[in-house]
Amino acid sequence: MKIEVDVAILGNSVAANSLAIALARTGTETVVLGTPRRNLSYGEHLKPGVTAIASSIGLDFASLKGSRITHGNLSLWGTPEPVAVSYLGYPEGSGHNLDRDVFDKSLRTAANRFGSLRIDGFKILVARVDKEQTVLTGTLNKCALQVTAKLAVDASGRSAALGRRLGARVIAHDRLLALGAIGPATRECDTRLALEAAPDGWWYAVPIAEDRVIAVFLTDSDLLPAGMAKRCALWKDELKRTRLIASRMSQGAGETYLHQADSRSLWLTPQGARGWIAIGDAAMAFDPISGSGITKAMADAGETAEAIACQLAGDGGPMARLLARRRSRFESYLAERAAIYRAATPPERGEFWSRRLTHTQP
Ligand SMILES: Cc1cc2nc3c(=O)[nH]c(=O)nc-3n(C[C@H](O)[C@H](O)[C@H](O)COP(=O)(O)OP(=O)(O)OC[C@H]3O[C@@H](n4cnc5c(N)ncnc54)[C@H](O)[C@@H]3O)c2cc1C
Repeated sequence: MKIEVDVAILGNSVAANSLAIALARTGTETVVLGTPRRNLSYGEHLKPGVTAIASSIGLDFASLKGSRITHGNLSLWGTPEPVAVSYLGYPEGSGHNLDRDVFDKSLRTAANRFGSLRIDGFKILVARVDKEQTVLTGTLNKCALQVTAKLAVDASGRSAALGRRLGARVIAHDRLLALGAIGPATRECDTRLALEAAPDGWWYAVPIAEDRVIAVFLTDSDLLPAGMAKRCALWKDELKRTRLIASRMSQGAGETYLHQADSRSLWLTPQGARGWIAIGDAAMAFDPISGSGITKAMADAGETAEAIACQLAGDGGPMARLLARRRSRFESYLAERAAIYRAATPPERGEFWSRRLTHTQP
């Protein structure tokens, strides 16, 4: 089977569907080529401001399912006692906690309403850029499928599945790995994000629905023992030592199943070239401590849609300027990340903190 479109988007989540929505407003014909997410639902916490970013691409954030309003956060990050931050009175509105599976499904439905074509289950095998078009070849339900587009977008998250097939490289700036579990929430678990620095990493806990909470420990992969059984035992031991996290998950997560998620800071080089561009985590993935991956993916989608519309109309200037801005954006992020870690100073500091405080991340 063969399909021809203006823009082919590889991915199926926030970046991909936000871009499909933003492009629909420019009258661009798009196809979203996706596979369902197989990762842990991270329980993302969105700081105030996401509503405005969503509406800048034509999306009514309040209409999406899977997000729960939260009025602040509570942290043990460089202070002897917990510090509470309230979002009440923030001009940008409230924060939100995401139940990611429900949220993604709702976003896909919204993109469908905007009229983008969707092919779920596409397995990309080869990508090539010809003179005026990009050709993605793969399979759909074991049958061959070829998608030809004037421009292809890599929105496949940290795998950067399209960019890497077109010769781009992923550069990792650390070895951060998340170990998380979902379990029943205790009464003490209000809607706020809880954040806590630990001797060899840090924790967060986010309630994602009425009665469930996700608790995640982040550390460097080389500081962990090999094998899931040992990692699970370490996770439980570390959880017991926390002051804000353990009390939010009932049964001490005794029976919960542990998931791992790549959380490294990643940079794709190049970020795009003739015939393709990467957005969202495929282009640059941030440390979860920044709490900004979702809003970044939506913002990327908005500015990339404008640049694509100009490019398809024969003006490549906005696309070239967008790509040129990306490196300084990533450098600013790395500086912010360093400042956040410097501010944590937990009383006991292991190798994890030495690396972050001396700029010697592997
Ligand atoms: C532990 C953790 C905690 C986080 N916490 C927060 C937080 O609190 N706040 C926040 O804002 N952000 C947070 N983030 C970051 C946030 O999850 C990401 O930035 C966001 O998911 C990026 O969206 P994306 O659409 O670019 O990529 P993804 O969400 O990774 O989506 C990529 C999509 O592409 C699909 N795909 C992959 N390969 C292929 C392929 N070959 N073909 C077709 N489709 C493919 C996947 O199935 C998926 O649907 C966190 C991340 C982690 C790891």
